[in-house]
Amino acid sequence: MGQQKTVWDNPADVIRHLAPEHPVMVFAPTVLQDRARQFIDGFPGLVTYAVKSNPDEVVIQNLVAAGIKGFDVASPFEIDLIGRMAPDAARHYHNPVRGRSEIAHAVQQGITSWSVDSRSELDKLFDQLPTHVEGQGVEISPRFKLPVLGAAYDFGSKFGASPELAAELLSEVARRGYVPSLTFHPGTQCTDPIAWESYIRVAKDICDQAGVRAVRLNVGGGFPSHRVVGVEPDLASIFQEIGDTTTEMFGADAPALVCEPGRGLCADAFSLITRVKGIRDGGDVFLNDGVYGGLAELPIIGNIDRIEVLDPQGNPRGADASGRVIFGPTCDSVDRLPGELGLPADTQEGDYVIFHGAGAYSTVTNTRFNGFGAMTRATVMRLS
Ligand SMILES: *Cc1c(COP(=O)(O)O)cnc(C)c1O
Repeated sequence: MGQQKTVWDNPADVIRHLAPEHPVMVFAPTVLQDRARQFIDGFPGLVTYAVKSNPDEVVIQNLVAAGIKGFDVASPFEIDLIGRMAPDAARHYHNPVRGRSEIAHAVQQGITSWSVDSRSELDKLFDQLPTHVEGQGVEISPRFKLPVLGAAYDFGSKFGASPELAAELLSEVARRGYVPSLTFHPGTQCTDPIAWESYIRVAKDICDQAGVRAVRLNVGGGFPSHRVVGVEPDLASIFQEIGDTTTEMFGADAPALVCEPGRGLCADAFSLITRVKGIRDGGDVFLNDGVYGGLAELPIIGNIDRIEVLDPQGNPRGADASGRVIFGPTCDSVDRLPGELGLPADTQEGDYVIFHGAGAYSTVTNTRFNGFGAMTRATVMRLS
């Protein structure tokens, strides 16, 4: 192929030059850095990145370059990854249930921020955690939950104490000499600021009930990415609501705010190029990627409809769109996108379907099921 470029102009350039047979995840570092700065400048507190949403080293590197100084880590692997790639950054170990060997590893790595949502797990932390590391207090944040509001997916079904239990845990944390803080996760892809507002109000009740001033309040992830045409994430309104509600509820005694976006930071910096393998008798469309690959999340939180169809020369197909059933490449009948997606009527075998905003929970959950999943990567200047 002659001299191969390492940075392409945009997805069409990748298609024209490589005619990729496998799915390609294209990454625009400038888009990621811009989004990171939007969070850093707009969020009224510390911005940490939830590593699980996309732990690619280029993502971590670009976030550090943009000024991200903290990371939400959930496993020994993620603790070590950030320790190696961003040794000066804060690491918050916010997986509320951990094995004793995982706790020991994190203690040995110098982790000083922990979350918890039960008495049994808090007792494990008390057994293994010092109250201070090099003169700095060790922070334990009870994580609480409310009924789900405005999220695409309910995180509360797995983690989070009731407000009553959170109050008990918070007072116990303070009594034992640890730094008492609170955390919650409102659910992922929350487009409505009300999700945060109601949690922050309850955080104040929990502090009052416990008789403890929380040092920090971590308002979780859940910040939306741009998945649906015409529904642009309004991060500024969400930041405003979080700041205003915190001031209204806590006044001068307000805890320092922290957030831990995953998808809201990384998703929109990536687009996934898939190829049409076949259009079965003019109807159902089969792509070379699906729910066992880069589109794993779509059945759980809904379709990405920010799609474009390009012909093999990289030109857009322009006919009016009509609804199509879209299948992935495996022989499993679950491998189907929800409902139907609008594709241009002139879409043909060999065309490319690009899903924009595909960078979260995609590269990292890609499987090799049925022999598929050989996803390649490309760096681009722009995503369209
Ligand atoms: C997954 C996760 C996040 C990130 O969630 P997004 O919805 O991707 O922003 C943040 N905090 C914790 C504790 C998580 O488990």
